[in-house]
Amino acid sequence: MKYARPLPNYMVQRYHGWKATTFNENRTWYKKLAEEGQRPRAFIIACCDSRVHVTSIFGADQGEFFIHRNIANLVPPFTDDGDHHGTSAAVEYAVTALKVAHIVILGHSNCGGVQGCYDMCSGHAPELEEKSSFVGRWMDILRPGYERVLDVPEEQRKDALEKESILISLENLMSFPFVREAVEKGNLTLHGLWTDIGDGDLLQYDPESKTFVQV
Ligand SMILES: [Zn+2]
Repeated sequence: MKYARPLPNYMVQRYHGWKATTFNENRTWYKKLAEEGQRPRAFIIACCDSRVHVTSIFGADQGEFFIHRNIANLVPPFTDDGDHHGTSAAVEYAVTALKVAHIVILGHSNCGGVQGCYDMCSGHAPELEEKSSFVGRWMDILRPGYERVLDVPEEQRKDALEKESILISLENLMSFPFVREAVEKGNLTLHGLWTDIGDGDLLQYDPESKTFVQV
């Protein structure tokens, strides 16, 4: 592979800083993690957005969370077509091998992926309609959500569609037979969260009121 190059300096320096401090001060803990393997209690599916600092907002240590990130924190519906399914593979591994107790879908404010879906569905992003657009085809998962937000006032639709990205992912999770089984046996619980980047608020979906409420 002739295209791989050495890391930029700022990353090299940060790495050495981490090795000399955080790692060095917790050597025993890292050794234990290496020897005993991972036993994360929760699986978090979040957006790729660099502003969503998953491990930071939950004060997570190594080994605590199994994390998967993709554009707009989406879980596709279950399908056994034999194709490449990265998100579904992560769901399968988390539930059947790691046997996590919780799956958290973590959405966020100002999501560019959701904005793209909104633009595409409202006819303002023909480039995303192209068959060759990976982002567009990925955002097709959220299309049913667009239909559902059409009855909310226009200025709130984008925000509502971000919430739909969480609800549709939760619904799609339940289409995986092993997820449904674990949930119905009481071994797994699903959670829907939305974080506001600007003010640090965290909301969770409340099935009673069918709304997102402050954590
Ligand atoms: Zn996002």
